[in-house]
Amino acid sequence: MIELEKIACSNCGAPLEVPDSVDFVTCNHCTTQLSIRRTESVSYTEKLEQVTADQAQLRERLVDLERQNRLATLARNWERHKKQYEIHKDGKTSMPSEVGGIVGMIMGAVIGIFIAIAAPGPMKLFGLLFFAVGVIAGLRSQSLAKQYNRDYRNYRRSRKEILAGKHDSDFNERLKSVPTPREYLEQLEEDVR
Ligand SMILES: [Zn+2]
Repeated sequence: MIELEKIACSNCGAPLEVPDSVDFVTCNHCTTQLSIRRTESVSYTEKLEQVTADQAQLRERLVDLERQNRLATLARNWERHKKQYEIHKDGKTSMPSEVGGIVGMIMGAVIGIFIAIAAPGPMKLFGLLFFAVGVIAGLRSQSLAKQYNRDYRNYRRSRKEILAGKHDSDFNERLKSVPTPREYLEQLEEDVR
């Protein structure tokens, strides 16, 4: 048997009788389209346009949350990734620079050549070795610096893309059925893990 529920139109206050299985109703007095909300203790109606506006607002907030989440994940990944480039020296941390690599290479080469010229006899070989090691180390740190700069640019670009909302449409697609805040939080927690 269908139970009829007494409920008031939230627009004009007219009393309505609706089957308790129905979620939407049109007021037969003012023709407003209504959504029926039910809690454990009370049922009430809301104008449908209000519901749609609330959903749009919720959607916007979810998109914003998702952006924050993406930014946070990106920043965390970058912090982790850039550690492999860090140079620790004299208790200070610096990042590789291309100029630093070139300077190191020139210094190694000059000192190596100087030793090769000035040192007596077999010590000249030591100069050549110094030269080779200096050049190799310089080239290596220069290429590291290039790699680091490239990664850093990629990171900046990804950040810009997120801020510009480039991924919002994918997310909107997934939001077709808007999750409840609880579902969304659970999803966030899973993503963080
Ligand atoms: Zn009404």
